Amino acid sequence: MERSVRCWDCHREIEDPYIDSCPSCNGLLEVTLDLEPVKELKPSDLSSRPLGVWRYQPFLPVDPSLAVSLQEGGTPLYRCLNLANDIGIREVNVKYEGANPTGSFKDRGMTVGITRAREIGADTVGCASTGNTSASLAAYAAKAGMGCVVLLPEGKVALGKLAQAIFYGAKVVSIEGNFDDALGTVRELAEQRYLYLLNSINPFRPEGQKSVLFEIMDQLYYDVPDRIVLPVGNAGNISAVHKALKELVEVGWIDEMPMLTGIQASGSMPLVDAFNRKAKDFNADKMPETVATAIRIGNPVSGRKALEAIYSTGGHAIEVTDEEILAAQMLLGRREGVGVEPASAASIAGLRRLMDEGIMDRDERVVCICTGNALKDPEVMISQCSPPVKAKATAEAVMRAIS
Ligand SMILES: *Cc1c(COP(=O)(O)O)cnc(C)c1O
Ligand SMILES: [Zn+2]
Repeated sequence: MERSVRCWDCHREIEDPYIDSCPSCNGLLEVTLDLEPVKELKPSDLSSRPLGVWRYQPFLPVDPSLAVSLQEGGTPLYRCLNLANDIGIREVNVKYEGANPTGSFKDRGMTVGITRAREIGADTVGCASTGNTSASLAAYAAKAGMGCVVLLPEGKVALGKLAQAIFYGAKVVSIEGNFDDALGTVRELAEQRYLYLLNSINPFRPEGQKSVLFEIMDQLYYDVPDRIVLPVGNAGNISAVHKALKELVEVGWIDEMPMLTGIQASGSMPLVDAFNRKAKDFNADKMPETVATAIRIGNPVSGRKALEAIYSTGGHAIEVTDEEILAAQMLLGRREGVGVEPASAASIAGLRRLMDEGIMDRDERVVCICTGNALKDPEVMISQCSPPVKAKATAEAVMRAIS
């Protein structure tokens, strides 16, 4: 496997694994893979391997003999007929990332990231997180026998995610400030080589996250959908999906790309603002606020990559309000039996907006990536529903209670 880590902006090659941005221009890093050997393959050559991230090993830049895996990926793609009907479009598929080992898509990037940590001999890993990255990292560090440090923004992490990070044995530090402050601090710790940083700024994480797109293509038998809709926080995921699409085009497995459509919450939408101005760069939002804590991010690390992904596929960046997010979360639960956390529901809320604003055609075939499990945030679920009704243990009393 030929691979190198390069600056996304100036292409300088970076050898030191503890450097997380380009020393010349401060640009984002990216893994470049030699895909010549993959050009000899076709999708069906991989189909005898189990569905999941490691099926796509020819596209992964790490040594598979060192793999640390919890059998991540291989998540369902639900064809949602009720939802399509309600919204009035031809075909909606939901890629349910809540079915991953720790309940979010973060596991896809983490299996590759932690394998990279093992390759370089790291004994401690760390991240800043709105919750799901820390839950995932804590589990993979436990599996790999590494120390784990996670920095969480004080008071803003969903209960399920916090519970996971503590449960898997990470050292959890609650930081005064928001996610962007926590990230700055953990980057300093990485610079001092106290830990190996596994935020999505680490170029190996997006390499694992590419697999969500590979799986979607497998599940749709390589019939490319018109549009892929996903929530955008730090923008690692949308950038990874775009990289996967470019790689599939390069090896000749697809010849067109779906329109990548990123959804942000109205209180936290630096990339939507940039898109509306047709700008290639964005202005950070210092006070991001939304019920969808996983996308409560004012200064998206991979924001410029996301804008390129959107512009170059003819996609869009749109906002949805917290009310729309919560309504979409309920709709998916009650019409399709699929439970997702608020950030994930942003992609479903986005469908309505895209229709209302006349951006989306009713004949489109759409895939929504629903990034995390509803159980991550039980408080939000409960707050939206009426509490159980009380009754005596008799048939008559129960019938009265439910009528
Ligand atoms: C991390 C996360 C996101 C945002 O993904 P980015 O790669 O930061 O854009 C969205 N939803 C959930 C559930 C997440 O955990
Ligand atoms: Zn550079």
